[in-house]
Amino acid sequence: MMPNQAMQELPPYLFARIEKRIAAAREQGIDVINLGIGDPDQPTPRHIIDVMAKAIYDPPNHQYPSSAGLLRYREAVAGWYQRRFGVELDPKTEVVSLLGSKEGIAHICFAYLNPGDINLVPDPGYPVYAGATQLAGGKPYVMPLHDKNHYLPVLEDIPAEIAKQSKMMFINYPNNPTGAVADIEFYHKVIEFAKAYDILVCHDAAYSELAYDGYQAPSFLQLPQAREVGVEFHSLSKTYNMTGWRIGCMAGNRDAVEVMGRFKSNVDSGIFQAIQYAGIAALEGPQEVVGAMRRIYQERRDAAVAVMKQLQWEFIPPRGSFYMWVKVPDGYTSAEYCEMILEKARVVLTPGNGYGHYGEGYFRIALTVDTSRIIEAFKRIKAIS
Ligand SMILES: *Cc1c(COP(=O)(O)O)cnc(C)c1O
Repeated sequence: MMPNQAMQELPPYLFARIEKRIAAAREQGIDVINLGIGDPDQPTPRHIIDVMAKAIYDPPNHQYPSSAGLLRYREAVAGWYQRRFGVELDPKTEVVSLLGSKEGIAHICFAYLNPGDINLVPDPGYPVYAGATQLAGGKPYVMPLHDKNHYLPVLEDIPAEIAKQSKMMFINYPNNPTGAVADIEFYHKVIEFAKAYDILVCHDAAYSELAYDGYQAPSFLQLPQAREVGVEFHSLSKTYNMTGWRIGCMAGNRDAVEVMGRFKSNVDSGIFQAIQYAGIAALEGPQEVVGAMRRIYQERRDAAVAVMKQLQWEFIPPRGSFYMWVKVPDGYTSAEYCEMILEKARVVLTPGNGYGHYGEGYFRIALTVDTSRIIEAFKRIKAIS
């Protein structure tokens, strides 16, 4: 039996392919340094685990949660937005819980796109934006991110014809895979554009707490008009080292929050409540853990930047996220270079073309292993260069 057209065209998720290759190498006893994976290596902070441990014994938590999330969890999200960004959210109508932000990012496409509707997606970009668009029967239209524009899309370059057929737009800052950040000015322009063409803006802020050199990423929702046109996706995954727990949220536009809640109530049954209590502990508990995490990545980034300059690699040091986006040396495609490095240096880099057409000619490094391993990886690469 054949799956539908969209499924037939959908390649396996990028990391599923890379993980297979790593597993094969490790089976042969090869020490592979994986700079490919966007998954924090640090454990979830202890006070969060402790809350979870207690909550699992409480029988009401064994039942179906609500798919919108405990009001208490949504209040914790609203409180965090208030403290962190000065943004006031109504937890009842402007916040919905998600089983990790990936879930919501994918499902909002199903809730908003009619067959053939255009979704404006960044390229290079998180593969879920285009993948879910296609699964939902929509058409991704690529907004190229170039280094000369600091990896921000140029909205003026989107033809009016395309903009008129567009229903949604994804943006993501601090950015995966480029490490770029966006300021409020850019969000202003996005709002103007979205208003002019009646487009739902989806800002993916998974890396909002991961910035360097004292930079603090703004929230899209800091602009009063943002809520008229858009939503923001947040995740506890990267901020609190909780990727495995599957907890995030979407906040902003009331209609979109209602639509997502209704969509989800037909598709899933929400987040295990014990995890929601752990999420509350993360958002309301001591935030020093976030500063500590930031310092760890800062140290790794600084160490990596120093060696990468010696290697004369071409890159812009990232201001946010835990990624570095680097030009492939002349004479290789992204895939060829990453294959060569894996084979000869036993280091996993992610080929840029995995993030879209405009990612070709780049590779991505994730700073999710400790500094000594990062240095070792560069030593190996240097040795074969
Ligand atoms: C990691 C990541 C997410 C977060 O995913 P979760 O499902 O919340 O774990 C979202 N967007 C981007 C761009 C990411 O890299």
